Amino acid sequence: MDLTSYAELAVLLVNLGDECGNGATVRKLLEETGRTEAAARLTRRDVDALCELRDELAEVFQSASGGDEDDVVERLNGLLVRHPVHPQISGHDGQAWHLHLTEGGRVADTLAVGSVMGLASVVTGLGVDRLGTCQAAPCRNAYLDTSSNRSRRYCSERCASRANVAAYRARRRAPESA
Ligand SMILES: [Zn+2]
Ligand SMILES: [Zn+2]
Repeated sequence: MDLTSYAELAVLLVNLGDECGNGATVRKLLEETGRTEAAARLTRRDVDALCELRDELAEVFQSASGGDEDDVVERLNGLLVRHPVHPQISGHDGQAWHLHLTEGGRVADTLAVGSVMGLASVVTGLGVDRLGTCQAAPCRNAYLDTSSNRSRRYCSERCASRANVAAYRARRRAPESA
């Protein structure tokens, strides 16, 4: 199982925002990230469960963004208890034996286990400061900072340039108001 791609799925889920209750939107997200089997099995109950998970994951990113590492760990540990891993050894498609952590169960369970394990692996392997929320208000989108110097502050290029324009305008206004 690719934990990085699951951590990225956690980001995508958070960034669905209010759209997380829209079954078609969730299905499209799953299809676009190559999870066609999960997309085909998705039920209304799965969507509702994923929406709840979405809110909890958003809080994880907000705590990380605020530098509250203890809170991030506490929240993730709580999620790990509620979404336990049931590992299975698998060897499909001519691959060597490898572990699947999210086998069986409902679609929402599988995605929850993956997302939570993905974030837990980022936090323990790379650091809590790799999780952030966009600094270009009012955007509150989540992101994973995979830059080598941990310099990321925005969810997207679009938000980065919007923030740059705002900062430029603020600098130009400053002398007049002084
Ligand atoms: Zn596999
Ligand atoms: Zn943003």
